[in-house]
Amino acid sequence: MASGDEKKEVFDAEAAASVVKELRGTFASGKTRSYEWRVSQLKSMLKMTEDREKEIVDALRSDLSKPEHECFVYEIALLKSALTLALKELKRWMMSERVKASITTFPSSAEIVSEPLGIILVISAWNYPFLLSLDPVIGAVAAGNTVVLKPSEIAPATSSLLAKLVGEYMDSSAIKVVEGAVPETTALLEQKWDKICYTGNGRVGRIVMAAAAKHLTPVLLELGGKSPVVVDSDLNLTVATRRIIVGKWGGNNGQACISPDYIITTKDFAPKLVDALKLELEKFFGKEPMKSEDMSRIVNSNHFSRLTKLLDDEMVSDKIIHGGQRDKTSLKIAPTILLDVPEDSLIMTEEIFGPLLPILTVGKIEDSFDMIKSRPKPLAAYLFTNNKKLKEEFVKNITAGGVCINDIALHLAVPTLPFGGVGESGIGAYHGKFSFDAFSHKKAVLFRSFLGDAPARYPPYTPGKLRLLKALLSGNIFGIIRALFRL
Ligand code: NAD
Repeated sequence: MASGDEKKEVFDAEAAASVVKELRGTFASGKTRSYEWRVSQLKSMLKMTEDREKEIVDALRSDLSKPEHECFVYEIALLKSALTLALKELKRWMMSERVKASITTFPSSAEIVSEPLGIILVISAWNYPFLLSLDPVIGAVAAGNTVVLKPSEIAPATSSLLAKLVGEYMDSSAIKVVEGAVPETTALLEQKWDKICYTGNGRVGRIVMAAAAKHLTPVLLELGGKSPVVVDSDLNLTVATRRIIVGKWGGNNGQACISPDYIITTKDFAPKLVDALKLELEKFFGKEPMKSEDMSRIVNSNHFSRLTKLLDDEMVSDKIIHGGQRDKTSLKIAPTILLDVPEDSLIMTEEIFGPLLPILTVGKIEDSFDMIKSRPKPLAAYLFTNNKKLKEEFVKNITAGGVCINDIALHLAVPTLPFGGVGESGIGAYHGKFSFDAFSHKKAVLFRSFLGDAPARYPPYTPGKLRLLKALLSGNIFGIIRALFRL
């Protein structure tokens, strides 16, 4: 073939099979199981994040025009703290856990041994493309696995930077990045993995789960949904409003899985809340928010059109009480508030994932519970109140991946809490030790001695042996003695 006739390398099922084969070989060699290897990889990832911070920020800004503040706080700092925790705790996480054995196995001891699953596929989303790609890799590597990471093609600068940096800093015989979109992901999904971790929407979540089912591969599905915010009138309105705003528009301009999707408040309190939101929004983003540098843009024109369709729906277009401006060229949409939108409108039936915030009103605040419970279980649920009883009732009655009272999204930053969904919002959880556990098999181990070899368990079975076993299992000492005498 002529030298100028270069063919682009295709990542097809054959290429995917060859990656899997190589990783299986690495895993079989046992090298990823050692504490030293795991620590060295986590340290390399930390060094990579520190050394190349500027490139990471540049890529995130190119993909989403993410403000540097957000790049640092929500992507780099969160990843670094997950790495620091894993490095500090790994020895303890890897230790086998002694557990109480049973009377039926006396004398014996029992323990739970965490062992790596093998080869892990991580498919990640575009909205926090650095953190969401590497955070599951931390758990997979800490647990001693090999990994393929498939970043999102919708954040191309971060995807190609990840491919470059991971190749440079980490053990490429065990940790690989495969870039690509649907065809490449499909080729990867045809292979047999030991676990697939997918972050993204529920429609693709179903595709991933169906592909995994063919090989009986377990899945960790980090999905999304409509996360509600209930705002009671008994609260510090300024603090609540500021936290809602930074959680919505400061958090990637609403393009976050645990972003406030809609607010529920009482009819009486709604005007006060709307005024406070308008006031604080202006303080944060100025009189012309479309010009603000402190908000990410919409990721691409497809998502821009999806969001404008939600706004232009005739069921809600007259419900916009703040914002509504958009610019197709810069892919910007101003922070937009809608009041009393119909519950069956598009904006209330689809996950918004953008800068639009509908407010629904109820007669009394407790009515919000039924409204939330009538919908699919969300990834997060929020409540702002000083009312202790309301907080207790909310925690007791509302099912969600996580609940955060009097703030937005911060439960995600607590590594002792699992992060994951329930029902439509996901399957499984990770973060901190939960990440290690998510990518480990918990092997049950029982150590017996040759003592205590009870003849009652062996054939020929007799009524006397059965009586003795029943007495033993009921733990009745007198029954055991009686049964022994009657053997
Ligand atoms: P996306 O478009 O980046 O897709 C996610 C991944 O799926 C990508 O790597 C993509 O290549 C792959 N993919 C897309 N179509 C596919 C197909 N047909 N077959 C196989 N793979 C395919 O991200 P998205 O879905 O737009 O992400 C937004 C959604 O993700 C929202 O619902 C959000 O709530 C959710 N999310 C959840 C979390 C979480 O931690 N729970 C975090 C971020 C986003």
